[in-house]
Amino acid sequence: MSEKYMDSGTRPLLSIPPEAKKIHDSITTILRQIRDAGYPDCTNDEFRKLYSQAMALYADYQRICVEASGEILSCGPGCWICCCHYAEDVYSFEAEIIARHVKRLPVRTRALIEKSCEKAVYALENLRPIVSQKLQLEEYRSITAETDAADILLSSYYQLKNRCPFLDEKNLCLIYAIRPLTCRAYINLGDPSVCPPEMINESDASTYILDLDDEANEMLDELHYRYERYPGDTSLCSLVLKYLSEDG
Ligand code: SF4
Ligand code: SF4
Repeated sequence: MSEKYMDSGTRPLLSIPPEAKKIHDSITTILRQIRDAGYPDCTNDEFRKLYSQAMALYADYQRICVEASGEILSCGPGCWICCCHYAEDVYSFEAEIIARHVKRLPVRTRALIEKSCEKAVYALENLRPIVSQKLQLEEYRSITAETDAADILLSSYYQLKNRCPFLDEKNLCLIYAIRPLTCRAYINLGDPSVCPPEMINESDASTYILDLDDEANEMLDELHYRYERYPGDTSLCSLVLKYLSEDG
């Protein structure tokens, strides 16, 4: 799981100033607390409260690292085109907590989210054989040599500009407070005009993923596997659908 939070590769890593390092230490302490508590399930109030604190600290950590590096964060409320990515690499407990939240929404809102999640999963699955067939062609061999086939599939999905099921009509995230770390970590440190699907593969793209350190990632992975009920699935849409289909 943890490789998803690696830097996108083309940009130098952000420097981590001492103040940010301290915040990171606090995130690690909270994750250790969650791990060692051994909560029977991840929708437990204490689990959710602690994870929410860790995510609030991640926002501070990200902000301080960006500021200290002299970079400009282009992301802000209502900026939404990156939310057309297929949200992959979500931790099992994040999806389960989100599904719990959706179950408590008004019936109509829940139904719209479910329908939209189904549409997203269907679109990805439709795309899978098309991309797979294309990648067999000689002209695409050089691409597959350099890029993982799963990344090419996700990149192709992004070209569809399917809005995330959790994006409302005002282009705000309906689950902002509990959105997955993978959504939080993806930022733009430059010109937001590189964010749309048609520009995302530009070599000077300024999008960036700020990673946590190995120890934090290992604990997140450990929690993911501890609470995982749908092995191998790390997609926000399909996991939420599965958790929504459960009683309770
Ligand atoms: S990554 Fe790009 S589209 Fe997404 S919030 Fe940041 S600037 Fe906006
Ligand atoms: S969950 Fe929220 S932040 Fe993440 S892609 Fe969807 S709308 Fe965007």
